[in-house]
Amino acid sequence: MINNLKEKDKAYIADTYARFDLALVSGKGSLVYDENGKEYIDLATGIAVNTFGVADEGVKNAVIAQFDKIQHTSNLYYSEPCAVLAETLCKRTGAKKVFFGNSGAEANECAIKVARKWSLEANGKGRYTIITLKNSFHGRTLTTLSATGQDVFHQYFDPFTEGFVFAEANNLESVKALVKQNGCAAVMIELVQGEGGVMALDPAFVKGVEALCREKNMLLIIDEVQTGNGRTGTLYAYEQYGVQPDIVTTAKGLGGGLPIGAAILFDRTENTLTHGSHGSTFGGNPIACAAGAAVLERIDETLLKEVREKSEYVFKELRGADGIESVSGLGLMIGIQTKKPVDEVLQACIRAGVLPIKAKQKLRLLPALNIPWELLKKGIETIKQAAKGE
Ligand SMILES: *Cc1c(COP(=O)(O)O)cnc(C)c1O
Repeated sequence: MINNLKEKDKAYIADTYARFDLALVSGKGSLVYDENGKEYIDLATGIAVNTFGVADEGVKNAVIAQFDKIQHTSNLYYSEPCAVLAETLCKRTGAKKVFFGNSGAEANECAIKVARKWSLEANGKGRYTIITLKNSFHGRTLTTLSATGQDVFHQYFDPFTEGFVFAEANNLESVKALVKQNGCAAVMIELVQGEGGVMALDPAFVKGVEALCREKNMLLIIDEVQTGNGRTGTLYAYEQYGVQPDIVTTAKGLGGGLPIGAAILFDRTENTLTHGSHGSTFGGNPIACAAGAAVLERIDETLLKEVREKSEYVFKELRGADGIESVSGLGLMIGIQTKKPVDEVLQACIRAGVLPIKAKQKLRLLPALNIPWELLKKGIETIKQAAKGE
């Protein structure tokens, strides 16, 4: 690898990541290149981050124009890009306020703080427990790890943050039982469990959770860090579930490749955060927000329709195909259970110049929302060839 990159990485980077044997150095749209100039069709977009692929002109121009003006101000001053992005998010969702951070975990930390403060004020002391789902993923900070409903994440770092209990996905009775046993402030769910294996929740369950939250005066928090920003075929996935969240968190695709996270607050939570109750030095960074605005302005009904059409195509091509056990997900967030071991199929794809990633023991596809049809078709054909047989 170029300039002993592999050795340098091993010597100097904390050993938290098992990387593919591949260095990506450049790209354009849905094509990316390694250091030898080998071309790949990118079906992962840096884990649903590069919404319009690599070196997108719109995002690039917004970023450069903003850097030319001012790249950072701190939250001690008014700054237009973050106000503009917040206004857009509110107008397009019906939300009332936005808090900006820099990542999904930070957006969820904010949602958790809002839920606790809201419940203290609305329900009095002691009702702070937040129900999340088994197999969920909400981030890597201590508190969002605590919120994550997978035992593998609850090791080494004791004591974890208290106040989280885990219900079974698609089992309303298990949520109800936890509400009875605990003083609860909120339920927090992903509508498609991404890291958990690209599992879309059952709409009736989600509706049931919403009704329960209303009945018991709890907040409904939807973690759209991965499902948000057009990924599932609507601006946010909750629209397809016909529910009204109290907080939506998002990050990944919002900045089109720049780090940004947002906690989007609806009617019941708009006044919960007050001066000094939360903050972030980089939160609302002008460049990240300018990128966000450039991304959102292109996620219109035409693009979303195309996302849904591409999704339909992928599901139709892969469901029942030779070597494919099942296909799950929503929009362009797709999980593929192969009959062959997933790593074998994945390595065959990489050799053939196609980059999917994994979620648990599934292949996971998160292509750019504007991936050209011919690249999508080529990518899917490659996956079919790689998965073929036993
Ligand atoms: C990726 C992800 C997170 C964490 O986001 P970071 O930006 O890595 O902190 C939280 N929730 C969900 C659903 C995610 O997919």
